[in-house]
Amino acid sequence: MGILTGKRALITGIASNRSIAWGIASAMYREGAEIALTYQNERLYSRVAELAEKCDSTIVLPCDVSDDKSINELFVSLQKSWDKFDILVHSLAFAPKEELEGDFVQNTSRQGFSQAHEISSYSLTALSKAARSLIRPKTGSILTLSYIGSSRGMPSYNVMGLAKASLEANVRYLAYSLGPESIRVNAISAGPIKTLAAAGIGGFRKILDHVEEKAPLRKNVTADEVGNAATFLCSELASGITGEILYVDAGYHIVGM
Ligand code: NAD
Repeated sequence: MGILTGKRALITGIASNRSIAWGIASAMYREGAEIALTYQNERLYSRVAELAEKCDSTIVLPCDVSDDKSINELFVSLQKSWDKFDILVHSLAFAPKEELEGDFVQNTSRQGFSQAHEISSYSLTALSKAARSLIRPKTGSILTLSYIGSSRGMPSYNVMGLAKASLEANVRYLAYSLGPESIRVNAISAGPIKTLAAAGIGGFRKILDHVEEKAPLRKNVTADEVGNAATFLCSELASGITGEILYVDAGYHIVGM
C-alpha cells in the first residue's frame, strides 16, 4: 500500500516526459493515487494523453490558466468523473522568452511583468478558488513549484524571479486562508532541471554546471526526486506542514561560499 492510496490528484503542467509535473504524477501514481492530468492546448494533447495511459488515467482535460472560462470548464468536466478530490498540483509558469535573458532593468516590460505574474502566480489563486469546494477537507493539499530566483539575484531569471516571489507569498496567503478548512498549501523550490520551460532561460546549461559544482550533494536534482518530495508533502505524513517552501535542490540554497 502506498502513502497516497485512496487519494485523487489533479496535476497541471505536463508538456513532455521531462516535465517536473510528470515526475510528480509518476511518483504519486506509484504511491497509489488516482491521477487526472491537464494540458495547456491541443498541440500538447496527444503527448499528455500518452503519459496519462502510463498511470492508468483516462482523465485528460484542457486548461489554459490565462482564461477564467477554461479554468471553470476544467472543474465542471472533472466533476463528471470525480465528485471530490484530494490533491491539486500547480506546476506551470510563463514569461516572454526575450525577458529571460540579458539585463533585468533593460529587458523587463510592463506587459511581460504582468503576464509573468498572471500566469505564474495569479493562476495558483485562480485554480485554488475554483477547486476549493471540490477539494476534500482534512486530506486536501495544494502544491506549487518555485525556484530560488524568488529570493536571490540570478542571471537571466529576471522578471520570473519577481513572479516566483509573488508565488511564494501566494502560498502563505492561501495556506492562511484555507487552513481553517484543513486544506494545506505548500511549494517545492526545485533546483534547475532540463525541461522545455528551463530551455527558455538564457545560459541554463551554465546554471546546471554551477549547481553541480557548488551544491553540497555535488549534483543536480531530477524530476523524480522532486516527485518523491511532492508525494510526501501531499500525503498525510505531512499533515502538520502548510505554508512551507521546501527546497529540493541538492542543498544549493544553504551555500554561502
Ligand atoms: P515544462 O515546460 O515541462 O512545464 C511548464 C508547463 O507550464 C507546461 O506544461 C506548459 O504547458 C505550462 N503552461 C505555461 N503557460 C500555461 C498556461 N497559460 N496555461 C496552462 N499551462 C501553462 O517545465 P517545468 O520546468 O517542468 O516547469 C514546471 C514548474 O516548475 C514551473 O513553475 C517552473 O517555473 C518550475 N521550476 C522549474 C525548474 C527547472 O529548472 N526546470 C526549477 C524550479 C522550478
